[in-house]
Order: sequence, then C-alpha cells, then structure tokens
Amino acid sequence: MKNIQDIRQDFPILHQEIQGKPLIYFDNAATSQKPRSVIDSLNTYYTGMNANVHRGIHTLAERSTQAFEDTRELVRHFLNAQSIEEVIYTKGTTESLNLVASSYGQIAVNEGDEVIISTMEHHSNIVPWQLLCERKKAILKVIPINDKGELLFEEFEKLISERTKIVSVVHVSNTLGTINPVKKIIDTAHQFGAITVIDGAQATPHVEIDVQDLNADFYAFSGHKVYGPTGIGILYGKKKLLEQMPPYMGGGEMIKEVTFEKTTYNDLPYKFEAGTPNIGDAVALKNAIEFVLEIGRENIANHEQELLEYATQKLQEIPNLRIIGEANHKASVVSFVVDGVHSMDIGMMLDANGIAVRTGNHCTMPLMARFGIEGTVRASFAIYNTTEEIDRFVSELQRIIQVM
Ligand code: PMP
Repeated sequence: MKNIQDIRQDFPILHQEIQGKPLIYFDNAATSQKPRSVIDSLNTYYTGMNANVHRGIHTLAERSTQAFEDTRELVRHFLNAQSIEEVIYTKGTTESLNLVASSYGQIAVNEGDEVIISTMEHHSNIVPWQLLCERKKAILKVIPINDKGELLFEEFEKLISERTKIVSVVHVSNTLGTINPVKKIIDTAHQFGAITVIDGAQATPHVEIDVQDLNADFYAFSGHKVYGPTGIGILYGKKKLLEQMPPYMGGGEMIKEVTFEKTTYNDLPYKFEAGTPNIGDAVALKNAIEFVLEIGRENIANHEQELLEYATQKLQEIPNLRIIGEANHKASVVSFVVDGVHSMDIGMMLDANGIAVRTGNHCTMPLMARFGIEGTVRASFAIYNTTEEIDRFVSELQRIIQVM
C-alpha cells in the first residue's frame, strides 16, 4: 500500500488552510473527499466525450455509453453481483431505498403485513418504509439496541414472523459506527420468507461487500461516500426480484415500446433508469472504485481501525466526555457528547481552528431519542487521515472544553 502522505497528495482539497489553519477533514461519514483521478475524470468526460447514452449512433455517444457501462461492470465486480442486470444507477442510497420501498413494496406488502427496521437507521431507511406502511396499512416494527449501540439480535428474533415481508437494516451506522451482523440478519429473515434490504452507505468505503455471500436481496450505496462524485449511487437487487417489480419512474430509457394503449418496459437494469442518467458522475465513479480497489478495502479498514482506536483512547481520557456508540465491532466513526457543552458550539469552535466535524442528529433522530440526547459531535475518518490530525483535534477539543 502507498504511504498515507502519498495518498494525501492525491486529494487536492486537503492541502488548504481553513480559518488560517491547515484543514483537518473529519466529516467523511457525511461525504468523503475526491482523489485527483475522480476530479480529472469529470473534466475528461465533459471535455472529450459528453453525449447522451444508449441512443446515439455517433462516436461520442458510443464513447459515453461505453464509459457509463464500464462503471456498471466495475460496480458489479466491486459488489460481486452475478450480472450487470442487477446493478441499477440511482442518485444515491436515498433513492435506492425509496425505489425498493416503492416498487418492491407495491407488490409484496399488503394490509397487516410487517416491515422491520432498526433503531439506528438513517432517516433514509425509515421514512420510505413509513410511507409504504401508511399506503398499504402495514405495520413498521423496530429492532431495539443496547446501550453500547448494538442491535439486540434476540429481540429481532422475537419480532420476525411469517407476517414480515421486508427487513431493512443499515450495514454500518453513520452515527454510532456499529457494524451490524447483516449476514445473520439476512439468514434469519430468509427463514421466515422475508426479503432483505441493506443500507450500505457507510459500509462500502470500509467493508468488503459480497452480495452473493451475504445473500442480500437488495444493497444500496452512494458514490460520494466512497471517494466518488455526488448525485450517483447504486441499487443492487437480485435479478429474479427486479424482474417481478414494476418500474419506479416512467419516461425515456425505461421503455421498449410505447403506445397510448400499452407500454412495454425495457430489460434490466434499464427498466429502473428512466430519463437521462447522471452520466458524467457515473463515469467518474469508476475512478473512485478503482482508487478503493487499488489501496484495498482491507488496508483501508486497517488504517482506519488504527485511527479509531487511537482517537477513542484519547477521547476517553477527557473528563465529562461520553462516547455514544461503543459496539465491539465498529467502523471509523466516533460520536460523543460533553456534559454542559452544546455539540454545535464544539463544532463551531473546531471549525474556527480548521477542523471539520459534524454535529447534530446525523439524520438519526429516533436514535438520538433512544440515547436521550439531541445530538452528538461526530468525527469520522478516511484513508487520508492521520494520528497527527487526531492529536491536534483532541488538543483543540480539550482547549475548547476548558474555555466553555
Ligand atoms: N444511510 C446512511 C447510513 C447514511 O449515512 C446516509 C448518508 N448520510 C444515507 C443513508 C443517505 O445517503 P445519501 O444522502 O447519499 O442518499
């Protein structure tokens, strides 16, 4: 693996001062920064090959279609999906989850049926299911967690039954960092005939994903959290389920033939890709995935685990600071609260020193309620972060707490 200083050289944004101090970017769970190859790819796409995909016979259209489909093939490989028919482009995790809730929910969920999610879900994996349950008069059930921020598996086993049609859980919590035992959850769901949806937004940058080994029915992620552009994401779905599902949106690209009497739909995956897609960002997503594959997810995870352990240990030494999320199996996210100091004030004062963290409820309001807090300060680490940055962050934090 390249050393971290060399990797940092690939990220132009990191080399700047914010408020007169060198930038420390610890908001990677919200979005990661982009390597030069991704930025260059966007430039190359728009300066050399921009054209609409799939319908042109001219050279640029062929080039852009090829590049667009090359990314799809790499995503297939990245997730170990069986075929490209199972890889659908979306705007991101949110759209992927809405697509499943709306389209699969339409055919699979009826009055009195049940959908199971967990206490630590992002709003993107709560609200689409609430909308579905409201529409279908179905029941939404929630797996509780313990004080460390781990799912209570035995409670899940009590909730699930033949009435459960869908189990949708987050692979890695954006607020707590908890890595959930999704394979075990998927196995249990399948024993009851339920299908599974995995929100992989936070897992994809750190965890090796093999959808066939997991046996996940659907898996969603966002390009921008995996060093790629915003506005592009993926829904993986098993072919046999996608084939049964009605289209999510209607329009160009997703049709075979349209008459005013009847429309026939395009083959997979295009059936779910109505309208001109986000071609440029899809093309650059390939460079982002190549970046991850080149370093290796295991190397990324190992480096980030070191940062996580280092930061956790240092933060634990600060009096009146409480870490929220102490699961045994965690990704590189540390959320915390400090007695008597508002998270927002900490975030603002860190920013005044060039340190970017996230504060607030992290789109997990029910999880905040579970811990009886309004928000946390969250530091989340990526491959380009260093222990020196953590030292500066912790020392600034200590100073801020003293001042406050
Ligand atoms: N799920 C989780 C766990 C997330 O962290 C996020 C992004 N914060 C989302 C879903 C939504 O992703 P996006 O905004 O890219 O659609």
